[in-house]
Order: sequence, then C-alpha cells, then structure tokens
Amino acid sequence: MQPAGDVDERFVDRSERLCCFAGEILVRCPRCDGQASIVSDPADKGHRHLWVRRRLVCRRCGRTAAWEAPRIPGSAGRNLPRFSGPRDPYFGLSLWLSIDCRGRVLWAYNAEHLELLESYVSAGLRERGRGARSMSMSMVERLPKWIKDARNRTEVVRAIRRMKTSLS
Ligand SMILES: [Zn+2]
Repeated sequence: MQPAGDVDERFVDRSERLCCFAGEILVRCPRCDGQASIVSDPADKGHRHLWVRRRLVCRRCGRTAAWEAPRIPGSAGRNLPRFSGPRDPYFGLSLWLSIDCRGRVLWAYNAEHLELLESYVSAGLRERGRGARSMSMSMVERLPKWIKDARNRTEVVRAIRRMKTSLS
C-alpha cells in the first residue's frame, strides 16, 4: 500500500456518472445494522428503465424489502430516484460506506465507487478521458470542492482507506 501522500499517479476521468455505481448499493440493514445491499430486482427485466424496481437483501439477518418507483399520478411515467448521498436513493437508508471527514461526510455506494474515489483523490494529475465528453457531469466532476482540495488529500485518502477496512 502506498503512503497517503503519494501523488505520482495520473487519474483519467472516464465520465462515469454516479448512477453507474448504483448496480449494488451497500447500506446499513434497518433490522440488524449489518451490511445489506440493494440490487436490481430480477422482475425488473420488462421495464424500459433500469431503476424501476430494487431489492434490499441482508445476508446477515435475512431481511428483504422491495422498492418500486412511484407512479406519477395521471401519467404512465414514474418518479425515478435521484442519485446523491449519503443515503441510498430508494429506501433512504444510511450507506454502509460513509465516514466523517473534516466535519463532512464522505460516502460511496460500493467498493468500486470507493476505488474510483481513492484513485481520483490520490492522483496528482487529473484529466478527462478522450472521447468521454457527455452532456452531464461525471461523478468526479460533481464532487464537492473539499474532496478535490489538494490540502485535504491526505485526510480524505485516509478516510477512504478506513472505509475499505469495513468491507466484508
Ligand atoms: Zn440485517
């Protein structure tokens, strides 16, 4: 493992948006406080949108729950979730990967999201990937200033690594 102060890596933004990391969201189980996950519902296949149905599954206590995007009254449409933290966009549960850092909350949906945050924050040089231009901003472009601030790098990386140790 590299020391947290290392800045010799280069980070290329491949324009993943936050919802790209929502395939599996790790949360605190509302029953046992253990690590549970929110995944897509196998019954979701017929829907046009990816986010219409989700399932909460806790491997520790066996709790399950289902979520369905609420219908917009008088229309065939549905209200799709808004992706922002530090709670999951479906059930509103606390994220498993969430930690206080410099008086704010640093959070991630899953290990892959955390990995990307770590490589972004610890990189000395950050560039946009070639051909990755899109209308909406990528997850890293949307990160708050305090996370991007080089002066906070050591502490943010330390917090990310502490979160990693909580992954089972
Ligand atoms: Zn549980």
